[in-house]
This record gives sequence, C-alpha cells and structure tokens, in this order.
Amino acid sequence: MALINEHLLKLQKNYLFADIAKKVNAFKTTRPKAKVISLGIGDVTQPLCPAVIEAMHKAVDDMAHKETFHGYGPEQGYLWLREAIVKNDFLPRGVHIDPDEIFVNDGAKPDTGNIGELLRWDNSMAVTDPIYPVYVDSNVMNGRAGVFENGKWSNVTYMPCNEGNGFVPQIPDHRVDMIYLCYPNNPTGMVISKEELRKWVNYAIHNDSVIFYDAAYEAYIQDEDIPHSIYEIRRARKVAIEFHSYSKTAGFTGVRCGYTVVPKELTASTIDGERLPLNQFWLRRQSTKFNGTSYISQRAAEAIYTPEGKEQTRATINYYMQNAKIMHDALTDLGFTVYGGTDAPYLWVKTPGNTPSWKFFEELLYGAEIVCTPGVGFGPSGEGFVRLTSFGDRDDCIEAMARIKKWLGK
Ligand SMILES: *Cc1c(COP(=O)(O)O)cnc(C)c1O
Repeated sequence: MALINEHLLKLQKNYLFADIAKKVNAFKTTRPKAKVISLGIGDVTQPLCPAVIEAMHKAVDDMAHKETFHGYGPEQGYLWLREAIVKNDFLPRGVHIDPDEIFVNDGAKPDTGNIGELLRWDNSMAVTDPIYPVYVDSNVMNGRAGVFENGKWSNVTYMPCNEGNGFVPQIPDHRVDMIYLCYPNNPTGMVISKEELRKWVNYAIHNDSVIFYDAAYEAYIQDEDIPHSIYEIRRARKVAIEFHSYSKTAGFTGVRCGYTVVPKELTASTIDGERLPLNQFWLRRQSTKFNGTSYISQRAAEAIYTPEGKEQTRATINYYMQNAKIMHDALTDLGFTVYGGTDAPYLWVKTPGNTPSWKFFEELLYGAEIVCTPGVGFGPSGEGFVRLTSFGDRDDCIEAMARIKKWLGK
C-alpha cells in the first residue's frame, strides 16, 4: 500500500488565487456585462522587449542547425549568462560573486520552494508576516512547519510587519535556523534599509542561521540607498542565499529564467559539528533533480544585459512604476492610507474603517468591478489590508481609479 506524504494533508485547502477566481466568477455570472479590472494577481502584462525577442529568435535559429544546436546545457547554466550576471548585477555594487556561485534556474519560485532541502527537516524557521506563501507551504510539505494551530504553524516564528512597526520586522528574541526575507516585499511593497538588513546578517552570524533572501523585485528599487542584494552587507556571504528572477524584471513569467546565488563561504554544520559548504550540495541537488533552463530562455536572459536590453527593460519597469504612482496618488487623494508602491510594483492599501480584507474585496468587486488581493491571504498580519498591483495597463489603472472615486461618491 502506497501511503501518502501526510504533510500534504496539513496544507490549508484554500489557495488564495483560486478563492479569488471563484468569487470573481460568481460575480461575473450575476453581472455578465461587467468589465472587471484586475489589480489582483501579480503577473506582468507588457510584452517582452525587442532585444529579448531578437535574442530568442536567434536562439531558435541556432537550434535549427546541427552546428549551433544545443542539447543539455551545464546544470548551473551557461557560463556566458553567469558571467553577464556577475558583471551587471553585482560588480557595479561592489559585490564580488564568482560565476560558480550562480545557479541559473527556471524561475525563483521553484528554488525558493526547494532550497529547504539543503537543511535538516527539524531546523526552525522564521518568516515575515504577511508573506509570499511559497516559503511556508514548501516547509509544510516537508514537515518542517509543524502543526497548524490558531492560524499559525507551530514551528514557524512569525515576524509581524504592520503599521505599528513601520513594516520593519523585529529580530526574534530566540534563535532560529532559517530565515526567509523578501525585499522589496511582496505583498507590502515595502523595502529594507541597509541598516536593518545588517541587523539580520549579524543575527545570522551570531546564531549560525541561514538567510534565504528573495530579491525578485530588486529592479524596482528607485531609492539609491536601498540595497539591491543582501551581499551589499559585509559578511552576508557567510550566511545568505539569494534568489533573483527575470519574471518581474523583464516580463519573463512565461519564459522562465532566474538564478540563485549560493556563496562558497556559506556553511552549515553536521550533527557532529563539522562545517560544510552548501554550494557543493546545491550543485549536487540541482544536478540530480534539475536539468537546466532552456538554451532559448538563457539567451533571452543574456539579452537583458545588453545596452538595448537594459534600456528597454528599464522603460517597462518605469511604465509599471508610473502606474504605481498614479494609483498611489489617486488613492491617497481619496483618503486611503497607502503603503509601498515607491520601490516596488505593489501597493498595500489599508481598508477603510478596519473593514476585513475579504469584505473589502467583495465591496470593491461589487461596487467598482475591480479585483484586488485580500491582504489576509498573505498571513494574519495582512488582515485589514488589500494588495493592488501596478502590473496592469495604464488605461486600466486610470479607469480603476476613476471607478473607485465614483463608487465612493467623491
Ligand atoms: C513573482 C515572485 C517570484 C518569481 O517567481 P518566478 O518563479 O521567478 O516567476 C519570486 N518571489 C516572489 C516573492 C515573487 O512575488
């Protein structure tokens, strides 16, 4: 008899975006003519930039000829891409990363979900609350999160990020082995200063913890003082693994490419106290379970680092950030309290009069035919907030703001 992994049974059944889709579909059956605008799901809408398209076409042609055909590539990714990453994403910030520390992947979600395999199942973990659900759910599946009681997992330390602390998570007062941080943050759209990030690096060094740093939105940072990489903090190489993705940077959600950095100085201990570098184990893990990102996707990613590619991806990011500004200004004018949206494509909007997230979601849907994401879906501290994304079309953003204004009778 094949027995099911019982940890899967512990997963909370409600998957946030499925619940939203169900409610939106119900609404559409009652009002078939409604033109619903979605400011909900975190997917991009603008097409790939010309430099990327050109590189992909060329890569397809390479595959058409025996001389330039590419089969399996190196598991870590092609060296030309890893060198472009080192040269463009790290060196200009004074960060020295070796190409052997870069692992090209098919997006950050799989790696953020799989990285926990490097550490024993009974390590303790901490997450900010609210949070991107992958970090917790992937640890539920391997048994590390413990049991679900009173809305929380027993072996997870939650670090609330709310108005009271300015969305700055407090360092735990006890030791945890694994810490997941995501900055700029999804869902709050808030960022972390170098000073605050330094506290985490120091904590991890002091407590012998590993930080998993998700930098999927670093390209949206506008403020020059905000770190793009945890490795801008001295000694972070000893304690942090960092995840990057071209999904939000360059609209690669349907292309699939990103990378993970596992520095060689990063070590963890065996039960007998022997220290071993994690880089070699991630290589071993990837070589066993992953067969590389497609050649075409990697050529597409390489094109982002050309002068044209940089300029074109920047233009799309600016377009989204202009959407964010339009929404931020309009909502603030209407009396909403709005966080985020200045260094990230997300706005974290406080519901008026402490309306619960899901209730406000329905009010906005039925009142203005706009879809948002209920904040509570990202964790208990998200209650009383909704997330809006700036990944839509400009016209839709403007129209959405006009509808909200009308709905409120202002
Ligand atoms: C979108 C997103 C990613 C990227 O996922 P991909 O698998 O690269 O598409 C990673 N982390 C967070 C927090 C995200 O919101």
